[in-house]
Amino acid sequence: MALIIYSGGLDSTVLLYKLVSEGAADGALAVNYGQRHARELEFARCNCLRLGVPFEVADISGLRPLFGESSLTDTSISVPDGDYNPENMKSTVVPNRNMIMLSIAAARAIAIGSGSVAYAAHSGDHSIYPDCRPEFADAMAGVLKLCHYTPITLLRPFIGMSKADIVRLGADLGVDFSLTWSCYKGGLAHCGTCGTCIERRKAFEIAGIPDPTEYAG
Ligand SMILES: [Zn+2]
Repeated sequence: MALIIYSGGLDSTVLLYKLVSEGAADGALAVNYGQRHARELEFARCNCLRLGVPFEVADISGLRPLFGESSLTDTSISVPDGDYNPENMKSTVVPNRNMIMLSIAAARAIAIGSGSVAYAAHSGDHSIYPDCRPEFADAMAGVLKLCHYTPITLLRPFIGMSKADIVRLGADLGVDFSLTWSCYKGGLAHCGTCGTCIERRKAFEIAGIPDPTEYAG
């Protein structure tokens, strides 16, 4: 049984459905770190309600001023358009985000008596985000084993999968992709032009699955 780190994004929604289908979901935890795309949290709540999974939000938005200049949290910096590449995506890094989220989720898992934390890291996660490297996740898995009297297991079932593989799995599991959010810019519709929107579009194309997302551009 696992506590799922759940943002309301495409990957973590498929993870939620997968664990529910296996009867392995203890709960879902979103971390509100002051991201401008807070709409994803609405979708997260909606999907958990549908599936009957307890949903909680860890609100650490009060820490936002400490995170420095990142376009994901600071509305005075614009999110770059175009494909992911090191130069245009550097401004979207929230420093050490995955360690913060894993740490909070491990604490919550311990508090609710869950033995595992699951998150949706996949093979396409970008080297521009140092805390998306497999070596980082391996090290965190080691830390989670040691952070409590009994080991907490870190589950990463998508680590060998591409985003297109995840879309295919989600389609098999009956995920309503229109209730998932990817765009880093926020707003009411996906922009269609930022790095994560481009990646989302490509994943549906490669998977051969109809994309129900309404893109603004
Ligand atoms: Zn976008």
